[in-house]
Amino acid sequence: MDCIFCKILNKEIPSYKIYEDEYTYAFLDIANDVDGHTLVIPKKHCTNTLDADSETLHHVIDTVKLISNHYVNVCGYTGVNILSCNGEDSGQSVFHLHYHIFPRIKNDGKFNFPKPNMGSGKFEEIQNKLKIN
Ligand code: AMP
Ligand code: ZN
Repeated sequence: MDCIFCKILNKEIPSYKIYEDEYTYAFLDIANDVDGHTLVIPKKHCTNTLDADSETLHHVIDTVKLISNHYVNVCGYTGVNILSCNGEDSGQSVFHLHYHIFPRIKNDGKFNFPKPNMGSGKFEEIQNKLKIN
């Protein structure tokens, strides 16, 4: 399988390792957009959150939490954004499950969520379309 993150795990491609345990690996994203932008991946390949087994997800989110707490409690950051793209149309470009961590500091202006009022505002219609039970 031609997966760039599996190649990183196999050390065929170098990476800036932040953390590793039996199930997960974390390294710096090379996008060079936000200092400390980190990716957390499982050692077991799966495409994204939608096809991952629960055990894999547990391991990955535990590592996301551990690193996030390290950034806030030890490294001087005051918050983190945690993001995952799932599927090509959501912006996923590497098809090996990963969670992005963006370390944040008050007023750093680094990362913004979509602005309010970009939706239709038709909450009842949306609820009827999306609700599960
Ligand atoms: P996504 O677009 O959510 O699938 O995220 C994929 C991320 O992988 C992007 O932010 C890329 O910058 C990052 N990326 C791609 N290749 C590498 C690499 N060799 N080392 C570190 N990060 C990478
Ligand atoms: Zn992979």
